[in-house]
Amino acid sequence: MSIADNLKHVNETIVSACAKVNRNPDDITLVAVSKKKPVADILEAIEAGQQHFGENRVEESTVKIPQVNAQIDLPVTWHMIGHIQSRKAKIIAPLFDVIHSIDSVKLAKKLSSLAEQNEKVIDVLVECNVSGEDAKHGFNGYNWVRNQAVKDHLWQDIETIINLPNLRVCGLMTMAPFVDDIGVIRPIFADLFALREELQTSFKVTMPELSMGMTNDYAIAIEEGATMIRVGRAIFGERQY
Ligand SMILES: *Cc1c(COP(=O)(O)O)cnc(C)c1O
Repeated sequence: MSIADNLKHVNETIVSACAKVNRNPDDITLVAVSKKKPVADILEAIEAGQQHFGENRVEESTVKIPQVNAQIDLPVTWHMIGHIQSRKAKIIAPLFDVIHSIDSVKLAKKLSSLAEQNEKVIDVLVECNVSGEDAKHGFNGYNWVRNQAVKDHLWQDIETIINLPNLRVCGLMTMAPFVDDIGVIRPIFADLFALREELQTSFKVTMPELSMGMTNDYAIAIEEGATMIRVGRAIFGERQY
């Protein structure tokens, strides 16, 4: 299967997942996760019509993104989806259009002040760990509905980030646990949706984007309200480590 065939298959799956819950496929942004994949694969995907790409490592992005940009006529949109050490904020700020992985107030403040210096506003998503898995980055949102201390802490951090002048908080991002059990994954996506609704009400803001769902679970994520799905292997094949 070529990258173009894979993209076609993923786009068809998006359409059928949307049909199931009466959503418009135009409201879903497919972010093709090209981490660990060569520039040639990215160009092949662009050739097939793909517009959005996700990378997760600073070093890799600084090499690949300028190479891709130099070889295309129309710009594509670059999404940073991996953990960023705040001392590397300066490197990634000019490379990416959307940052999904805001996982600390420190990083958010750093990015906002960099954006201020460059007189721009950066689109960001706040990464929330609603599954409670220790290995995950993101603000702790585990059991926020019942655990008032968790909720208070999360609200305080998100309020700080919303109030930063040069970040536009467009929504939330999460990673589900790596399990096959839909019964485990679905409530996590539903929980992120509910968290977004509650934050919008509390802070009287609109946060239209929900970045959730990967190769194994993007159809479920769409059913639960995802607006951005981050799909790697289903498009580019397995990664070599
Ligand atoms: C690698 C990665 C993905 C894509 O995973 P696949 O299983 O290849 O679809 C999505 N989101 C994040 C944050 C990732 O690091």
